[in-house]
Amino acid sequence: MLVVMQAHATEEQVRAVCRKIESLGYRAHPMPGAQRTAVCVTGNRGEVEAGTLEEMAGVQELIRVSKPYKLVSRDFKEENTVITFPGTDAAIGGPGLAIIAGPCAIESREQAFAAAERVSRAGAQFFRGGAYKPRTSPYSFQGLGEQGLQIMAELRDKFGMKIVTEAIDNESLELVEQYADVVQIGARNMQNFSLLKRAGRCRKPVMVKRGMSATLEEFLMAAEYVMSEGNYNVILCERGVRTFADHTRNTLDLSVVPAVQRLSHLPIVVDPSHGTGKRNKVTPLSRAAIAVGADGLLVEVHPEPDQALSDGMQSLYPDQFDELMTQVRQIAPVVGRTVAATSTRETAAVVSS
Ligand code: PEP
Ligand code: MN
Repeated sequence: MLVVMQAHATEEQVRAVCRKIESLGYRAHPMPGAQRTAVCVTGNRGEVEAGTLEEMAGVQELIRVSKPYKLVSRDFKEENTVITFPGTDAAIGGPGLAIIAGPCAIESREQAFAAAERVSRAGAQFFRGGAYKPRTSPYSFQGLGEQGLQIMAELRDKFGMKIVTEAIDNESLELVEQYADVVQIGARNMQNFSLLKRAGRCRKPVMVKRGMSATLEEFLMAAEYVMSEGNYNVILCERGVRTFADHTRNTLDLSVVPAVQRLSHLPIVVDPSHGTGKRNKVTPLSRAAIAVGADGLLVEVHPEPDQALSDGMQSLYPDQFDELMTQVRQIAPVVGRTVAATSTRETAAVVSS
């Protein structure tokens, strides 16, 4: 249920409504909007016992929510969610596109720094790299663990990029949340409900990747799990789904972008690297993702893709990423978006070191 407050309701009236909801044994999620505040009620098994809520000062109306998701929905919050990072101009969901780039896995300090230097120079404000890798084979490279996180923390200081990295279980999440700026929940864990709830209790924004065969509703419900625990900074990521097609690793479902945007206020970025699995398809689908209205891209870039310990086939050479960014810069204004300028910060750092 949604408790819609009157436009002029005071903060004290909103707090009183939240206290009332909690006294009934439910959880209250107040969400201020441009027009009015709505308070979402969760934790109810059946219909919410509205009690005297409707009569309370400042309450405009009670709306029953028939959809299985509530907090992710535009019914709860009409305006787009914009995730900001204090002290920087990086954002996800605003007019500026969020470009997240870097290798699949952190393999060494040299490899990570070489990748960061190039993607930062090309204008990426977010660096991605896995320290914990969910691999299909137990014999494949599993990631450097905390050492990988430490390397990324160093990168953040040197290049000023925000770090996006995956947590694969509750244990790794403990560490990832200390080092990362955005915690990634991978496709294989999109329905790991205990991990999603744990992510909902962490203080960092969470990026949820779409499960390999998840429907739109299942995708949104995964985000709902995170939000239901009180973390409202959630980013969705389309990364392709399994189909009969075998010319790509997955089928990138770009139609999910406008479908999500219609139902949800959450930002959605597109990952054409895992979405296609083929280097030569990453740039064309990046162009398409921006054109379709995605809030950003997640792209794998490796200084030496042929030597990569994971996902080399889909990793761009740094020069290819430069070209991708040039193209994205041309398309962005057509759909009313901007892209951060190319950076000279690392050049300055190199010169002064
Ligand atoms: C990744 O981002 O490196 C990754 C493992 O992605 P996904 O969970 O989408 O397969
Ligand atoms: Mn990968």
